[in-house]
Amino acid sequence: MKQEAVAVKPIRSLKDALDRCQALGMRLSRQRRLILELLWDVPDHLCARDIYDRLSRAGKEIGYTSVYQNLEALSSQGIIECIERSDGRLYGNISDSHSHVNCLDTQQIVDVFIELPPEVIAKVEEQTGIRITDYRIDFYGYQGETDAENGEEVADTQLSESLESETSISEVLSEEVSIAS
Ligand SMILES: [Zn+2]
Repeated sequence: MKQEAVAVKPIRSLKDALDRCQALGMRLSRQRRLILELLWDVPDHLCARDIYDRLSRAGKEIGYTSVYQNLEALSSQGIIECIERSDGRLYGNISDSHSHVNCLDTQQIVDVFIELPPEVIAKVEEQTGIRITDYRIDFYGYQGETDAENGEEVADTQLSESLESETSISEVLSEEVSIAS
């Protein structure tokens, strides 16, 4: 993640994204605009192929190479999110720190803004000796009824389980390292 992306106002709409392109002196080509519009239209994280297919189905003339190159340019400038997965890259519209809810039924990844209680952060710092300045949490779950009354309790349990697992801690650490570098 780029350091300057942290300091500026987060992108929360298509307009913000277009404004950021202009502020960075990026050319707003028709193709680039189409991609940003699609990403802000679909509340998910999509691979380059998905984005190309959706635009083609909507009758937009754009080549796959152009889609890929524009996605890379936009993510390298911190205007969109790029998630590295073992089976390829996924792109989303929120580029600053946020967490993900991964639906294991639909494979959809939903953005959420979650703030950890200070005592949880303090626990991570105490266990690692590293001062936490940022974090991103990955939640996993299945579709189905979520009991509103038990919802908070369930979320708390998942959170503490996830924090106790080594993977989560190392993810938090790698995030810290990438910010520090
Ligand atoms: Zn995301």
